[in-house]
Amino acid sequence: MQTKDFSTLPLSKEMVVNLDKIGYEKMTPIQSEALPHILDGNDIIAQAKTGSGKTAAFGIGILDRLDVKKFRVQSLILCPTRELADQVAKELRMIAKFTHNIKILTLCGGVAFYPQVNSLRHFAHIVVGTPGRILKHLDKESLDLQNLNTLVLDEADRMLDMGFIEEIQKVLSYAPKERQTLLFSATYPDEIVSLSSSIQKDAINIKTTSIESVNKITQRFYKVDDGLKLQTLINIFSNFKPGNGIVFCNTKLECDEVAQKLQEKNIDALALHGDLEQYERNDVLVQFSNKSCRVLVATDVAARGLDIKELSCVVNYDTPHAKETYVHRIGRTGRAGHEGLAFTLYNEYEDMDEYSDGDMIFEDITTLNTVNNFEMKPPYVTLVIEGGKKDKIRKGDLLGALTGDVGLSGSSVGQIDIYERQSYVAIESAFVDEVEKKLSRGKIKGKKFSVWIL
Ligand code: ADP
Ligand code: MG
Repeated sequence: MQTKDFSTLPLSKEMVVNLDKIGYEKMTPIQSEALPHILDGNDIIAQAKTGSGKTAAFGIGILDRLDVKKFRVQSLILCPTRELADQVAKELRMIAKFTHNIKILTLCGGVAFYPQVNSLRHFAHIVVGTPGRILKHLDKESLDLQNLNTLVLDEADRMLDMGFIEEIQKVLSYAPKERQTLLFSATYPDEIVSLSSSIQKDAINIKTTSIESVNKITQRFYKVDDGLKLQTLINIFSNFKPGNGIVFCNTKLECDEVAQKLQEKNIDALALHGDLEQYERNDVLVQFSNKSCRVLVATDVAARGLDIKELSCVVNYDTPHAKETYVHRIGRTGRAGHEGLAFTLYNEYEDMDEYSDGDMIFEDITTLNTVNNFEMKPPYVTLVIEGGKKDKIRKGDLLGALTGDVGLSGSSVGQIDIYERQSYVAIESAFVDEVEKKLSRGKIKGKKFSVWIL
């Protein structure tokens, strides 16, 4: 596989320097195949698996074209879920650091509409959002696409799965005909091909799956009676000892049940599904990413597009409804050269023929031992501080308060995430109670803040 430096592309020096700064030295295969065409202004339809760097592929293209002095929406990125939109925006902001004042706005459902209208009044260069909410802004004329030059459909296959086709078509009816349209999808069903032909012009087809499918994921399958599924799941954890993992269930109810039962068995787990409020989902995701939760029990929709680095394993507690979903699910592990583990539980009525190709291992559950007193506890616990960017809190302020007044050693502080009104700090479990007490009595930047343990 050939990888090239970003400096081989016709990009500004500032862009290349910043990419290097954020650790992007070489292009990923999808980037080196797609970027030359994107920079040439062509439409593309690109297929590459999750974690292959698609965001930067279109992100670099968009930012290269952007006229910062023109205070109009020039790019629109449609994503299937809020989480994915947040992630795309985060990645874009990182790539956009090479220059000042690029404004990237996310517009997703599930949060209040009018504050978004207000943000739009203050203009944005790039909008990232979910189709339904974007359409609402277009209908209410709070969003104007007259100056749009690039439209991106990220995870297009998933948006179709989720029934967004009508919204997408309507959003497109507001966009100028003269534009660049970039379509990204992990899979390539017929619907994608027909969507492409209806919204793109002479799209160049790019496919890198064949090169990248040689990622290191060991796939194990266990035939198991329904009554033994939970114990088999626990045995998988105790035998393979993954650092963390996502367990996929097909229903929200089952997610809650499995998470609850795992907790009862001393396996630290949280459920993630569409019935959670936005803030609850955020709490769960923060805990998982900062290592204060080791197992996420999720539905496909909720886990869609999450870029969780270093995910040790994926378990299909329920079999996916389609092979494409299977590919999506297990694509979360084995990223960025890490070895991944994928497990699938199925019952005697389920036909696994289509899975029995290549490197898949079909094993009997008796190969798994039952380990007594097995525990899976997180190394950190999350502390929430009721203060964030709005209060001008920065990482240094939190680290300073924790290592100064509170007297904690810096090595006991894990990931720090700062949001508008709240901050999350991962603290080594043994110290968290003491830290909570001291921090709630003390001050950060001369101000008192409420503090609690998540
Ligand atoms: P996809 O959208 O294809 O699922 P992402 O765009 O989320 O993948 O990228 C996966 C991860 O790889 C992200 O953490 C991103 O920051 C990182 N990444 C992307 N491009 C590069 C690169 N050229 N070099 C190093 N890391 C990269
Ligand atoms: Mg992506």
